[in-house]
Amino acid sequence: KTLSTTSSNSVLTSTPLDEIEPNVARLHKQFHSETNKLALVQFRLNQLRNLYFAVKDNVDAICDALRKDFGRAASESKNLEIAPGLSELLHTMSLLHKWIKPEKVTDVPLSMKSTPIYVERIPLGVILIITPFNYPFFLSLAPIAGAIAAGNAVVFKPSELTPNYSALISKLFSEALDKDIFYVVNGGIPETTKVLEQKYDKIMYTGNNMVGTIVAKKAAETLTPVILELGGKSPAIVLPDITDKHLNTIARRIVWGRFTNAGQTCVAVDYVLVHESLKAKLVAEMKKVVQEQLYPNVNKNDPSYTHIIHQRAYNNLKEVIKSTKGEVVVGGDTDDASRYIAPTIIDNVSWTDSSMKNELFGPILPVLSYKSLGDAIEGIIGNHDTPLAQYIFTSSSTSRTANKSVDQILRRVRSGATVVNDVLLHVALVNAPFGGVGNSGHLNYHGWYSFRAFTHERTIMEQKLWNEGVLSVRYPPFNDKKDKA
Ligand code: NAD
Repeated sequence: KTLSTTSSNSVLTSTPLDEIEPNVARLHKQFHSETNKLALVQFRLNQLRNLYFAVKDNVDAICDALRKDFGRAASESKNLEIAPGLSELLHTMSLLHKWIKPEKVTDVPLSMKSTPIYVERIPLGVILIITPFNYPFFLSLAPIAGAIAAGNAVVFKPSELTPNYSALISKLFSEALDKDIFYVVNGGIPETTKVLEQKYDKIMYTGNNMVGTIVAKKAAETLTPVILELGGKSPAIVLPDITDKHLNTIARRIVWGRFTNAGQTCVAVDYVLVHESLKAKLVAEMKKVVQEQLYPNVNKNDPSYTHIIHQRAYNNLKEVIKSTKGEVVVGGDTDDASRYIAPTIIDNVSWTDSSMKNELFGPILPVLSYKSLGDAIEGIIGNHDTPLAQYIFTSSSTSRTANKSVDQILRRVRSGATVVNDVLLHVALVNAPFGGVGNSGHLNYHGWYSFRAFTHERTIMEQKLWNEGVLSVRYPPFNDKKDKA
């Protein structure tokens, strides 16, 4: 594998700092001009179509860049990023005409029955979109598509940690999109800091909570609204009712949900909480799944297994494995030169273990057991509340109305999303809101929800002048006859 070694790879040219301010200003100016192209829905659709073909014609090049950046297999990039990204674009293009229609307001007082009242969703202006390295394609394309569909210009800041990919996508997107509505800035902290000094109409940040705080603070200075898509520790809760028949399927799903993209997935299974009566069986089955089914030949040269993005993250993960008080039952091997960490399962972990401090964001799966579901729930709430996702596994009914345990978890643990009996799949839904709650972020997007996130809902009333008589009660002087309550 030929991996990029540092984030300051020469493949990616940083945007000169003095170019940032005039270009952002240029986008604002265009947006406010009488000839703003984004006012035409057909223009927005053409832009989305251009994006679609820029991607469709360059799938291999995109996969190749991602392979160079962190050794990810092409099929993983296609299945997890490119296919959902293209679906999101098609979904948006096919429904945009419907979404932009104003919505009639019903259930109005009698005195306003003859007044046309409706809600129109208007573009916000210029949106800043800052994206992370881990799914750099989908996490860029989906917000950019949503923002443009909603009629906004976009300033895009991709991650500097995927230099090959960011250089390629900057070129492809800049060629595909009109320069009056799209501007890309590349670089690291100095460039992002300069970008954040400019004024926007909304900022969408996807990444870690520490930088999320920097972005939110900066945005607050100019009262700019922010969408934050952050991380967290997402548990897989395995209920005691699992039958032998389902054990292998559940183990496969959990293993995939942890180790795909070498664990660098915001909604990855971060840890397993399994009922004590089942723990030994589940751990043995997950070990078998890793060694015999999903990763039988994994090693530092395996072209189908992703590597860790940079040295700092790699060192932190290695330290977690070294310092854990649990028992490494599978994996644990590492390679410094290629930043490889084998799929690693750690058994007998407690809430205070080194592996349970922060979001792991790597191929390490701690397993904790619980006696009662109440204890498990208290553990989640007390240690890592409001996860971005939670996964519940049961052999009984998946419905909260028929399964009291599922209902108990849903009632008590607030999470960005909950999937019963599977992992990760909700991210690919084009027509369901994706986002966090509390520490895992706020506000959501995808499809219609992106359209809503990037528009302002403006109420419009078209009052008549002939109905002054009906409205006369509102004017002084007041008397008992005018009392409506
Ligand atoms: P990252 O390092 O890729 O950073 C994201 C962006 O922030 C980059 O564009 C980077 O240039 C910029 N940035 C970095 N430091 C900055 C600073 N000091 N000031 C201003 N900008 C700065 O992100 P990451 O931390 O590696 O991403 C991983 C995290 O993102 C994980 O916590 C993961 O859970 C989370 N994540 C969340 C989602 C979601 O949808 N909720 C999706 C993917 C990743």
